[in-house]
Amino acid sequence: MGFFAKPNYSQRRENNSPWTLKAGEHGTAGHNRYRLLPAYGKLAASQKHFLYIPLHFGYKGVSFNKPDSTNPKDLPQRPFRCIQEKDWKSGIIRTSCPQCEKHAEVELVVKRTKDELTKQFKEEGKSDEEAKKLIAEVLEPHMNWLRQYNLDSKYYFAAMNEDGEFNVLKVPSKAKKALEERMKEVIEQEGVDPLDVDQGVWFDFIRTGEGFTDTSYSVDVVYETVVDQQTGKRLKSLKMAPMTAEQVEKAQKVLPELVDIPRILTAEQIQRLVDCGNDPHEVDSIMGIVQRQGTADARARAAAGIPAEEPTPLQPVKPQHQQQPSPAMKPVTPLSVEETDERREFLEFQAMKRRQREAEAKVFAQAPAPEVAVAPDEEPVAAGAPMTPSGAVTKTNTLSSQPASMDDFLGSFGFKPYAAPPSNTQKS
Ligand SMILES: [Zn+2]
Repeated sequence: MGFFAKPNYSQRRENNSPWTLKAGEHGTAGHNRYRLLPAYGKLAASQKHFLYIPLHFGYKGVSFNKPDSTNPKDLPQRPFRCIQEKDWKSGIIRTSCPQCEKHAEVELVVKRTKDELTKQFKEEGKSDEEAKKLIAEVLEPHMNWLRQYNLDSKYYFAAMNEDGEFNVLKVPSKAKKALEERMKEVIEQEGVDPLDVDQGVWFDFIRTGEGFTDTSYSVDVVYETVVDQQTGKRLKSLKMAPMTAEQVEKAQKVLPELVDIPRILTAEQIQRLVDCGNDPHEVDSIMGIVQRQGTADARARAAAGIPAEEPTPLQPVKPQHQQQPSPAMKPVTPLSVEETDERREFLEFQAMKRRQREAEAKVFAQAPAPEVAVAPDEEPVAAGAPMTPSGAVTKTNTLSSQPASMDDFLGSFGFKPYAAPPSNTQKS
């Protein structure tokens, strides 16, 4: 049908951080109106208009603006795709993901620690309340780990907002279910194709609440009131959203391929991340992200009027040796601690470079293709889903056999074994 030619990445200039569904302020319902788009690009042949993407969060790289900072709040998240492929019927993992394996190991530690200590404290005659408190203390680092390294699985749609802007929209599974029902209604009751370029409708994703358990979603289709010219009656009518030629052209220019949403790493790269201790330089090195600014190469490029390369290519690249950033490239506008997510980082970085270019009075024909920055969602996915459930680890490792002692067991994961505090120092 000729719609949605292959996107041209060199022309992508819009907001690259995916849109998310927002709740209203002070516990009110938030309305998020979008016109969803049909399948395009690499997914056109399969007619798939969305993609389910699980992203692992928790690893952090070097800040573009504050390359010398070691403050965890300055360090940008470096999410990457989960590569686990599982046969849900048999539970057999066809492709294992080292980060999921690590996650399952920690969950197993949590489960076994809980069981062991519950038994131990019962034998020692401790009250349930006391036992619960002590177990929580022991498990705190594990729970923190699970919170930090959450898996954020969402459905990604291409969408247009009411301002005529295009971007990728992240939709959680609860909202996706509501959306599917609404789409079915539109097709069956209104006889309208909700995604078709020449038809289309506006969906209103209504979100209430924050957090995984307190958030609820519903999806409405937007109607408008029209006045019947003959009778003067006011009629409720489905608000249609046919796309103009300009909108189609714009969509082609700015939308990324859903299948290319970063970051796609190899199993070997993910294993190295698991083993690296989350040092930001090492994380970037493993992911092939090179801190160009401040290097001799970058200074030479700047002097020659050549724009520095953007970090993070869309495709996985071979890890490169890290380059030490120079303190000479301090950020022009320092960010406040609260403002440092990957998106803002990137925008600031872009702005800094733009100022540099303007200062040099150079005009470049093409903007570099920016990274599709994926900010961590405010709504972490419940631990475990859709990972290997605890106790169902199919891979043979040291965990599948009972360790000699609880201390050995905890110690093998680098966690401090439980030591009972002297009872007389206990404060209630
Ligand atoms: Zn994974």
